[in-house]
Amino acid sequence: MRHTLLEKAYKTNELTKAEITFLLETITPEEREILYSKALKTKQAYYGNKVYLRGLIEFSNICRQDCLYCGIRASNTKVKRYRLTPGEILACCDQGYELGYRTFVLQSGEDLWYTEEMLSALIHQIKRRYYPEVAITLSIGERSAETYQSLFVSGADRFLMRHETAVPKLYETLHPTMRFENRRACLNTLQEIGYQVGAGFMVGLPGQTPADLAEDLCFLQELHPDMIGIGPFIPHSQTPLGSEKGGTLEDTLVMVALTRLLIPDSLIPATTALGTLHPLGRELALKAGANVLMPIITPTSVRKQYALYENKICGDDHPEDCRYCIERRIQAVGLEVDLGRGDSWRFISKA
Ligand code: SAM
Repeated sequence: MRHTLLEKAYKTNELTKAEITFLLETITPEEREILYSKALKTKQAYYGNKVYLRGLIEFSNICRQDCLYCGIRASNTKVKRYRLTPGEILACCDQGYELGYRTFVLQSGEDLWYTEEMLSALIHQIKRRYYPEVAITLSIGERSAETYQSLFVSGADRFLMRHETAVPKLYETLHPTMRFENRRACLNTLQEIGYQVGAGFMVGLPGQTPADLAEDLCFLQELHPDMIGIGPFIPHSQTPLGSEKGGTLEDTLVMVALTRLLIPDSLIPATTALGTLHPLGRELALKAGANVLMPIITPTSVRKQYALYENKICGDDHPEDCRYCIERRIQAVGLEVDLGRGDSWRFISKA
């Protein structure tokens, strides 16, 4: 039965919620390996052996939201806060460009100090003045439709905003200051504006069931985003979920691989959280269908303060260390670095 379901997912890219739930509840270690190899083949059919790199700039750890799992939540008074100035962010882009990156991901907590005008001017400077060939990805959380529109007009190409979990009740328990319907509305608005959109979720959240994870995949099949970030939940001791169990490597890899089979043309990063959970977590994700890596180019002076969870890897590394470490890791699993913009298959085929 499970073999038939894996074959069905591979051949048709479709499974029902009940079928996904059944697979997640019963999959054996041997079947997991079959799933990973089918996901790798599917990835290769769309993207070959290429792995795209994105230079990640974590430009502020100040956040107005209070997500129960997150180390930079507003209520965490122990974290030392920082903001990079537009000039400092530009300096990161210069360094990233030198290292060969052609996508910059500007990520932060929800920090309204960076107004629409400031962000527009910054995007305009990076994109129009210095580096017209790069793609700019924003990951700054929830803003108004008008702001999303104006940042797009200024030159932003992509927007990452994980839906975190597609189960509204669980979402609202974990995000006391937020509503799932608003998250969904933001993702829909971003798609309507014309961004390449990234959604995604955490695996192993407290109270999350196999049926909840199946719901994430159904949600993604309907939304059909360009990118899908999947990482294990990792507890942070300075949060209300500090003593909960985190997500496992195996469960996260299974979700990466199933996502590849069900939304086959998406870009899927091998996440830093997976690399934190296991020394070879990102390599294993690449072999289970992931095709993007996001080396950090945040200045080393503030890196450790962007502590969404504890023991995050690469805290002391310099951007050039990350660049070459990542390249070695990609080559070690027989894949190739691609330093192009790395647009999604869906975006390219629409263009
Ligand atoms: N504020 C933006 C947003 O809401 O999209 C981007 C920054 S947010 C901190 C980046 C991602 O970190 C979240 O989407 C969440 O999935 C992940 N994250 C936060 N805390 C985490 C934890 N304890 N374990 C694993 N991932 C975590």
